[in-house]
Amino acid sequence: MGENFILKMKGIAYCVVRSGRFLRTTHYALFFVILSGLFFVGCGGAGSGDIATEVTEMLPTLAVTAVPVTIPPTKTDIPQTETPPPTATPLPTATMSPELVETAVPTATPIDRSCPAASPEKPDYERNVVAADRLPTPNPALLEPHFWLVKPLPDEQLLALNLTYPYGSDGNGRYLLHNGLDSLADKGVDVLAAGAGTVAYAGEDADVLYGWRCDWYGNLVVIEHDELWQGQPVYSLYGHVLDVFVEMGQRVEAGDRVAEVGFGGVATHPHLHFEVRVGRNEFSATRNPLLWLAPETGRGVIVGRLVDGEKRPWQGTRVTLIDGSSEEVEFIDTWTYLDDPEHLINPDEDYAENFVFGDLAAGNYELFAKIQGIEYRQSVAVKDGELSFVEIVTEPFMTPTREVED
Ligand SMILES: [Zn+2]
Repeated sequence: MGENFILKMKGIAYCVVRSGRFLRTTHYALFFVILSGLFFVGCGGAGSGDIATEVTEMLPTLAVTAVPVTIPPTKTDIPQTETPPPTATPLPTATMSPELVETAVPTATPIDRSCPAASPEKPDYERNVVAADRLPTPNPALLEPHFWLVKPLPDEQLLALNLTYPYGSDGNGRYLLHNGLDSLADKGVDVLAAGAGTVAYAGEDADVLYGWRCDWYGNLVVIEHDELWQGQPVYSLYGHVLDVFVEMGQRVEAGDRVAEVGFGGVATHPHLHFEVRVGRNEFSATRNPLLWLAPETGRGVIVGRLVDGEKRPWQGTRVTLIDGSSEEVEFIDTWTYLDDPEHLINPDEDYAENFVFGDLAAGNYELFAKIQGIEYRQSVAVKDGELSFVEIVTEPFMTPTREVED
């Protein structure tokens, strides 16, 4: 699959948030303003608040340890065979040596697929703290991107990521954890298979659990892709769709029309919710789709780790990507992955990341995070079709100083 289709992908735009406004895609700004009042589930509304202010007050960089590594792309059609304890810990010497190569293993257990009547109660996620468990340490020298999938929308349809509700976030406290990515698109726009495979599910989820509760996606399609990754099946899921044009068991190729964009289930406006599941076709088995979607020509992806010296990931911490290449400096926010008791958000087995910026124009950027009063900045280059790996190692988590954002 892959190359031809990737070449056909054009015109993906990205939304940029600055002081709560979307730039470049001003029509989306209006759209979002309207939508933010609706409190719809499935796409966040408002943007960030005071980033511009904060950035103008930056202090000299302190204690930054980061190694950006750009990883060359591989052919997209070749599988790879083959709430922390609040105790202050001694400051270890931060090291970037990737001596340990572990494999992240999803710890979630298979879930009860019977249909709950209501959404689960939203956990009170902890923010700006490090997790109890350390992340595996990836070896940048061994990393290869697995951009196996292609944009599940027509060429002319922008990816139009909803940046306020990225994978692993709760939309700044408004929603349940997000385990996919949302693309704004009009009702009726074709939804395309992101890769070749077999339809594993097509239809309603009124009687079968695919999301937080039944009838979460309304209608959905799940494709099990042909290739195994590290011996595990890979699935893509298309949620909130309207008409479904495929049946279970049907073969599909990348780019085949499988459904139409809609607003089924809990969605209150049309958008495509896209998931990638690895190992099991279950809600608890997702990965960040931006690490699976091949970037459009001229664009790339940043995969990052924000960890303390013991490799424990920061949770719910804002990371800002600063693009100073144009006259008007642009800021894109994301948040490091939150965790919950069921471990529904999973870092990639290879990258062991806790944040991702996808669909970025190639160029030079700066990452910024402010944690417990210390500011961290790191330059990173985004290259055409490539994955740039960044790790920022922070000062130790200190208690009881828990920074509260906003
Ligand atoms: Zn979604």
